[in-house]
Amino acid sequence: MIHPTPRLRFAPSPTGPLHLGGARTAMYNWAAARALGGTFLLRIEDTDQARSTDASLQIILQGLRWLGIDWDEGPEKGGDFGPYFQMQRLGLYRQAADHLLADGHAYLCYCTPEEIDAGRKEMEAQKAGFAGYNRRCRSLTPAQRAAFEQQGRKPNVRFKMPEARVMQVHDLIRGDVEVNTKELDDWVMLRPDGVPLYNFACVVDDVGMKITHVVRGEEHFLNGIKQRLLFEALGHECPLYAHIPLILNKDGKKLSKRDADTNMLDYRDKGFPPEAVFNYIALLGWGFSGDRDVFSREEMVQVFRIETIGKAGSKFDEEKLRWMCGEYVRRWTPAQLLERSKPWLQPVVPATALTTHAGWLQNALACYQERIAILSELPGKLGWLFGVPAMDEAAAKNLAKDPAGKQWLLAYAQHLEGSNLPPSWPSDRQGVDVAVPLPSKKDAPEPACAFWTPAAIERDSRAFVEALGVKFGSFVHPVRAALTGTDKGPGLFDVLFLLGKDACVARLRAAASHVAL
Ligand code: GLU
Repeated sequence: MIHPTPRLRFAPSPTGPLHLGGARTAMYNWAAARALGGTFLLRIEDTDQARSTDASLQIILQGLRWLGIDWDEGPEKGGDFGPYFQMQRLGLYRQAADHLLADGHAYLCYCTPEEIDAGRKEMEAQKAGFAGYNRRCRSLTPAQRAAFEQQGRKPNVRFKMPEARVMQVHDLIRGDVEVNTKELDDWVMLRPDGVPLYNFACVVDDVGMKITHVVRGEEHFLNGIKQRLLFEALGHECPLYAHIPLILNKDGKKLSKRDADTNMLDYRDKGFPPEAVFNYIALLGWGFSGDRDVFSREEMVQVFRIETIGKAGSKFDEEKLRWMCGEYVRRWTPAQLLERSKPWLQPVVPATALTTHAGWLQNALACYQERIAILSELPGKLGWLFGVPAMDEAAAKNLAKDPAGKQWLLAYAQHLEGSNLPPSWPSDRQGVDVAVPLPSKKDAPEPACAFWTPAAIERDSRAFVEALGVKFGSFVHPVRAALTGTDKGPGLFDVLFLLGKDACVARLRAAASHVAL
């Protein structure tokens, strides 16, 4: 009897990091378990002892946690169906193998790799159809077995494939599929040292952990057939299977290391918001109803059904992932943006700005909210706020373009200094924090207080430029270059606002002194 409550698992091998495909598999199992009100567990398939490491396990667990995929049973959690590490379950595999040996579904195989190879070559030469293991040990007599034992040979346990047949199987994604088992070998279940091979351990554990649904990559589809036959041999109903199509690159080819980061934690370290990465990965093979692209984990769980995973391979597109990140970044409040950005800001932003001038810093970040997708883009953009920037090539060109530019810089500096604009924020830098709404926040009313605000600065500078009788554009570029050292970045009045009057005056003069007449 299949367990009445849905139980799903993610079964990574800790032989490398959590990559995109693994994260998607984990996510679909997790979402299905949550949607069905069931249990999601982690099983660590660590039987490849040469390649399994604790470091990889930790990276996988961190990757899952970062994406917000939590598990109910497994490492660090325990549970009633453990242990959850296969290497701690060797006794259970031995037991199951003995059971299958006793009832004739398995047999001991003493063949050496060389003998197996020779047997296969012989079958190939005879061109008698499928050339696999020649099944020599299927029909050993007790005396032959004893002779092998005497030679010191240690047997593998092999599964005895039932008579070849066409199987009709149902896959929750692929639908009804016919598979001819004639090309499936008698496969090794258990090595002489008692370490199981994947298909065997997987089934023993799926039985023992009462797994009801198996969602995994389509590379396991044929394994699924072997596993169904083993379930049959063990007299257990098999879980429902769902094999998810591959993730492809933009050209429709198999995704490689060149197309995407292979470690989820690399996305974390580059400042990709985890909810956005989660959202994007969810879309690699599944769609929210309608053509809605942006949704939360909770919203996904409300509507997710395994049967709605697509049959076609989905394409990974880094551009779209970045677009998705931007969608999330733009939705944050200024306080959230600051909080999320802190780890990236710490190396470039003075500690006081992070603490006593958080409101000002929020304003600075808000200027970039529409322009960034990932948080690691921020530090490189903010340098001009905290020190006189080195002039980049485009800015230097802008500054040199108009021979009159130098005069404007000086005149504007003088104007700002003598203007009746109220004192600017930085002159209060020691104590007061000012979070005046930026003009880019359209609905925000201009504060009634007499602060140096972007709107006040704009009115004042437009009047100044008009009086000067030059085009506004020819004024903007040199001034921006002088203040930020670059021709990109926030609007000029936001720049002036953020720097404050004193810093602006000083930078305008410094830049003017570097421009040749
Ligand atoms: N350890 C296997 C893998 O990482 C698990 C496959 C399965 O879910 O059955 O591919």
